[in-house]
Amino acid sequence: MHKPVRNAWKFCRRHLSVGTQPKPVLSTKETLTDLFGRYHNYLRISLTERCNLRCQYCMPEEGVKLTEKPHLLTTDEVIKIARLFVKEGVDKIRLTGGEPTVRKDLPDIIYNLKQIEGLKTVAMTTNGLVLTKQLVALQKAGLDIVNVSLDTLVAEKYEKITRRKGWNRVMMGIDLALQLGYNPVKVNCVVMKDFNENEIVDFVRLTKDRSVDVRFIEYMPFTGNKWEVNKLIPYKSMLGMIQAEWPDFQPLKNAPNDTSKAWKVPGYKGQVGFITSMSEHFCGTCNRVRITADGNLKVCLFGNTEISLRDAIRSKCSDDDLTALISAAVKRKKKQHAETRKTPFMPNLTYHNSILSHLYSQKPFQYTQRMYCTKLTHTDDQGKVAMVDTGEKPETTRIAVATATVQLNSEITLLIRENLIKKGDVLTIAEIAGIMSAKNTSSIVPLCHNIPLSHVQVKAKLKEETCEVHITSSVRCDGKTGVEMEALVAASTAALTVYDMCKAVSKGIVIKEVKLLSKSGGKSGDYHAPEEIHVRDFNRKPTRNQWLPFVGPV
Ligand code: SAM
Ligand code: SF4
Repeated sequence: MHKPVRNAWKFCRRHLSVGTQPKPVLSTKETLTDLFGRYHNYLRISLTERCNLRCQYCMPEEGVKLTEKPHLLTTDEVIKIARLFVKEGVDKIRLTGGEPTVRKDLPDIIYNLKQIEGLKTVAMTTNGLVLTKQLVALQKAGLDIVNVSLDTLVAEKYEKITRRKGWNRVMMGIDLALQLGYNPVKVNCVVMKDFNENEIVDFVRLTKDRSVDVRFIEYMPFTGNKWEVNKLIPYKSMLGMIQAEWPDFQPLKNAPNDTSKAWKVPGYKGQVGFITSMSEHFCGTCNRVRITADGNLKVCLFGNTEISLRDAIRSKCSDDDLTALISAAVKRKKKQHAETRKTPFMPNLTYHNSILSHLYSQKPFQYTQRMYCTKLTHTDDQGKVAMVDTGEKPETTRIAVATATVQLNSEITLLIRENLIKKGDVLTIAEIAGIMSAKNTSSIVPLCHNIPLSHVQVKAKLKEETCEVHITSSVRCDGKTGVEMEALVAASTAALTVYDMCKAVSKGIVIKEVKLLSKSGGKSGDYHAPEEIHVRDFNRKPTRNQWLPFVGPV
């Protein structure tokens, strides 16, 4: 296991130039290829949820509810996750946030990422506020690419949109990046109606003498950013404004996975790009996956599904299990955003229902250690639910025993004992119901096979001392798959039948402890529940010699 090193970037001269190219390693690409043939070689890691700005379109004034520190990824965990992805073929990692520069271990993270064989590029997206203080160290640590977000060229407007001062510092940060040899420096500008649309041409002018790549981002509305949906300026409108000033504004060739459509004013040093996440999504060529600051893997920015790699790592899952987990998540990636619908103001435009709110608010599913560390058996190679193919399995004798307990009150106990329940003989009918349901398990539990059963026995026994009915089911088959679901369905249904027959007396009946006691036969081996099974009670007839005092409803 490689241990990340601390502070080595301070002494390292190796990365003083940008864009170093380590030796590529071979990968099968299988893990990171989804069902639509998209190969994900680009990982974005959010290092923090914190930020030193409060951009109106991104964060509420009071900030966002932060995940507690122990739940965030440590430096070592970031590196471990990165290493896993690089081993599977990721060759570009972008550090983002929140604001990545607020994280103190940022140089360490960059340095250790750069030690991973096969990783070609480490990039960062920042608001640029502290670049003048940090960029030299970050470059020394190995940072290859820097993108700076800046939405206005007017200092007062900057203060309005970010709710903080700092425009001068960001501009100086961009200039420093250029001086340090970052070429181009990408400048991200979110375009908003009635805020900075009139600055579009000024931003293009910025590319005249500087090697900057100004990328106009279509504003993405989302619940909570307090900006109206109609703040969006679609790419085609931006293009129109620029072409009015520069009729020879020309498109450039884009690489297959580019999210930005590149353009240029002929003769200008820098160039322009459009990130059209709203008007023309780029799902078809999406090659990126994301890790949130608390270690969740998100295969789509707009999808809700997350799996916690942090929890898997902290549960000591092996690298193979982690890789299997990543692969399963990638295979579940949808063809395009889950939630898109037509905007009311532009019928040809689709927009995302939830957009960015989930970046900060949504909680992932909780997975148990067992779920991380075992491969999914009831999904096919496309990640969809599927029955297990038992065709190749050998036939063996399989037996499963399950139990359920029904807690009654003393009145019902008495009535059952005396066979005075109006609906009939509770225990006998419960037993018959259990047997019938076992035979119908495959029509109740979706992924169960329809198995010819050789024997089903269900016993319902009244325990007068505790006012309970104890149900035991035993199911046997000679076949290719187990019968524990049949036994569990039998016990559950018998318990439900007791409830149904007695509910007119009291609704306070509780069905509890439905469990598998044992199973035998089959490849996965025998199983015995840890608690002692009173198998000797299995065939004993209920006694009818006790009279319990009436103590009211349960
Ligand atoms: N704090 C860093 C920064 O601002 O560059 C990195 C994180 S920030 C979330 C990444 C990018 O998302 C920034 O370029 C920002 O402008 C963009 N962004 C945030 N909210 C947006 C929105 N509602 N619509 C479009 N872009 C947005
Ligand atoms: Fe902070 Fe970046 Fe969001 Fe602005 S866009 S509030 S700088 S995280």
